Order: sequence, then structure tokens, then C-alpha cells
Amino acid sequence: MLIFNYFKLLLEIKMYKFSVLFLLLVIFFITACSDKVETIQNNASSSTSMEVFRWKMVTTWPSNFPIFQEGAERFADEVRVMSNGRLNINVYAGGELVPALQVFDAVSQGTVEMGHGSPYYWAGTIPEAQFFSSVPFGMTAKGMNAWLYNGGGLLLWQQIYEPFNLMVFPMGNTGVQMGGWFKKKINSLNDIKGLRMRIPGLGGKVFKEAGGNTVLMAGSEIYTALERGAIDATEWVSPFHDLRLGLDRTARYYYYPGWHEPGTVFELMINKSKWELLPKDLQKIVEVAAGAVSEWIYAQMEFHNQQALAVLREKENVEILKFPDDLLLKLKLLTKKTLDEEAATLMNEKNNPRFKQVYDAYESFRSNYSNWNKLSDEAYQKSLELK
Ligand code: CA
Repeated sequence: MLIFNYFKLLLEIKMYKFSVLFLLLVIFFITACSDKVETIQNNASSSTSMEVFRWKMVTTWPSNFPIFQEGAERFADEVRVMSNGRLNINVYAGGELVPALQVFDAVSQGTVEMGHGSPYYWAGTIPEAQFFSSVPFGMTAKGMNAWLYNGGGLLLWQQIYEPFNLMVFPMGNTGVQMGGWFKKKINSLNDIKGLRMRIPGLGGKVFKEAGGNTVLMAGSEIYTALERGAIDATEWVSPFHDLRLGLDRTARYYYYPGWHEPGTVFELMINKSKWELLPKDLQKIVEVAAGAVSEWIYAQMEFHNQQALAVLREKENVEILKFPDDLLLKLKLLTKKTLDEEAATLMNEKNNPRFKQVYDAYESFRSNYSNWNKLSDEAYQKSLELK
């Protein structure tokens, strides 16, 4: 009986082993099959998306313009490599294919597939686009990134551009700019009255509200205008680009901070009909490359500006000065007044509720973010000044 039980046990173990072996074989077979199915699917998707796209991108920058035009070209290179040559983008500087300030229309109408610029250039067509560039006394690059990528800012921006058949992603940030070059010292608001200054965007509107004479002019004309006295002051970008333009030879006083442009965002615009024809993987490559180039441009700005600042500090014909605090406070109060008035005028006279909608969304995020920023960046920066 004992022997019988022993053989029975042996038999059960064998049966058990056989079952396990059988189960493993089944698992192996299923896995092998599913691998095969996946491979086939992969082949199918790659064979349907082997189409090669040849696109054109126009920019608002002059040719060889460092960092900005370079950023657009870098984007095209990265997309070409990541897509294994399936998306080839030829980049044209402002004026090479279309004039710089017609980039928006060219992409919107599908004359070209892509554009690189900054949304405040299109203020004449879409005044609310200015909030996606930079707002005087508004958020810096950190806050803008938080708002755009996570706080609903980018979705709002894409909604605003949709009626123009455009898709949009952020692609670059200048960081905090400089206040600009002045031929005489600025001690108070009185010194701004009647001053002819090249200053674009919402900052230009605030400057006008402060009694200044706002002049709009392309970057290429600034040097001559200031040198010959057609204007009394100008802002451009920050030390690196200002030095390259030779602005240190046109005016003595170089003021900071750039209250009017605390971190101007650049945009990658894409014709929406063409965008929708791209396979999903190429769309993702475009989106990821735009993010990478955004970071590259910002890092380039911070790197080159600290070097250029050191060069400017050595120049005897240049004085680097901070705007007086009471002037900055007055400009800050005037900014709120200007934006409120602009929102009301557009709503009541131009039947445009969107400016107010974007303004409210921006302000709501900015005020919450500033609570955190005060405890983080601002408090930390102040601690560095302690002696
Ligand atoms: Ca500027």
C-alpha cells in the first residue's frame, strides 16, 4: 500500500511537471505569436509612413542672426535626424522668401508650412497674441513655461490661432531683456516725457501712456536712427545682441532691467492643414524638437549675455545704470491701467472679447505663481545681496 502510494505520488509529480512544461510551451507560443503580430504591425506602420515630406520654414529674423535664426536651423537639423530624413525642412530668413512681418500670413495661408517668430509681431491682427510673447512686469521664462506647458496657456494660444489655420508651439525665450540705450540719464518720469524711443509691443503702449513718444521700427534701422538722432533711445534685446548691433557706439547710458520684456517667448507656427497630414510619429518629433530648441535658445541667451556684459563693462563710453525704483513703480502702475484700457477698448469698440479672456487667464496664473516665486526665486536672489 505504501509502495502504491509512493508510485502514485511519483506519477502526480510527473503529471505536474508535464503540466508546467505544457503551460510554458503555451506561453512561449503566445509570446512568439504576439511578437510576430507586433513586428508585422510595425512594418505596416513604417511602410505607410515612409512618405518623405519637404517643407519650408520662414522666420522673422535676419539671415545669420545669432541664436534666433540659428535656433530655427537647429530645429530643422534635429527634425531631419530624428525622422531619419522623412521630414526635411528648409529654413529661410526674413525677406529671403517672404518679408519678415508676413510670416504669419504665409504660414496661415499655406504658402509655406512653418514659421518662427514671436506672437507680438501679429498684434495688429491678433492683439491678444501679445500675452504669449511677453507682458511688461509680467512673468519671466520660468513662469511663462509653467503657464504655457502646464497652466493652460498653450491650449489657449492654440485656440486663439486655430481660426487662422495654425498650430503653434513655444520655441525659444530671450530671458529678461535690458531696458535699453538712452542718450541722456533717466531720473524720473519727467525724463520720459516726449522722449522718442523705439520700443515695441505692450511695453511701447505703456511708454506712450507715460508720456513718451513710441516709435516702431525694424531692428535693421535702429543703429542708424539712434546714431543720427532720429530717436533718443532704443531697446533691442540684451548685452549679446545689443553689442553685435553696435548700440554701445550710439548712446552712453545702458539701463536695466527690461521691465517691458521680462522673457519674450518665440513661437513655432505650423499650417494646421499640413500639420494634420503628418504621421503621428513625425508630429511628436516636431513637438519634442521645438521643446529642445526652446531650452537651447534660452541657455544660449544666458551664456552669451554674461560674456557680452563683461565686455560692455570694460567700455569707457558706456555707463550701465538701473532705472530708479520710483520710475519702475510708476511704469508698473501704468501697465495695469494700459492693459485694462486696452481690454475695454477692444471689447467695446472692436467686438473682441478674447483680449480680456487671455488677459484674465494670464493674470490669474501670474498672481498665483508670484506667491510661489516670492518664496523661491525672489527670496533667494535677495539673500545673495546680503553683506
Ligand atoms: Ca526687445
